[in-house]
Amino acid sequence: MKIDVVTIFPGILEGPFKESMIKRAIDQGFVDIDLVDLRAYTHDRHRQVDDYPYGGGCGMVLKPEPLFEAVEDLKSHSGQNDSRVMLLTPQGRRFDQQRAREFSKINHLILICGRYEGVDERVRSALVDEEISIGDYVMTGGELAAAVVVDAVIRLLPGFLAEEASGDESFSGSLLEYPHYTRPPVYRGMEVPPVLMSGNHGEIARWRRRQSLKRTLERRPDLLKSADLLPEEKEDLEEIKKQQS
Ligand code: SAM
Repeated sequence: MKIDVVTIFPGILEGPFKESMIKRAIDQGFVDIDLVDLRAYTHDRHRQVDDYPYGGGCGMVLKPEPLFEAVEDLKSHSGQNDSRVMLLTPQGRRFDQQRAREFSKINHLILICGRYEGVDERVRSALVDEEISIGDYVMTGGELAAAVVVDAVIRLLPGFLAEEASGDESFSGSLLEYPHYTRPPVYRGMEVPPVLMSGNHGEIARWRRRQSLKRTLERRPDLLKSADLLPEEKEDLEEIKKQQS
């Protein structure tokens, strides 16, 4: 997979991509990430990427010319025919695990980071395939949002993590994940549930399934509305609801 992140502040993303799992994914050849400096696509002495908004008002707007040139250049050099251009914006479709899974199947992602008041509307209407928001709040720029997207996507690249590592976790099905414990078995009087140390894999799986359902019911009951539950999960859920009422 190739990911190009188009930004006027590439330095913001140097740290996050040089550590831990993203670095490992790059080093092992699962993904190639380029931080693309938008100013490289300007032609004036001041390398101007923004300008005042027509109609007045505060703030600046990212100009269309460097963005169009950058995306066209990145597409033409990618060697891929399925490049997807994503604009990070609070007005976009909410990013979630399902979208991360879909993005992980794309060979070439181009992420455009906005700044100031955002980008010229012609970028949205004629250059971008999709607009993505990472949540209902407004940040100063799209770089951290791009880092969120990259992080969530690369861990789903086929073969990168062991299948089990992402199989049970929150949102992989429709439920939140069960709680985890590690050593010591008792810490400050708080005990690890004995079933987890029983060695009985059937009982452990059942406990985890029930905990997953309980957590989802308590924290994200909205997820249960669209959950595709197995018959045994439906039974467990009914039992948990009875116990709680
Ligand atoms: N004027 C814009 C509006 O009201 O919709 C907000 C612009 S914001 C200050 C600057 C840039 O930060 C945006 O162009 C976008 O790239 C990025 N950004 C801010 N919040 C975001 C979010 N929740 N998700 C994705 N990108 C975001």
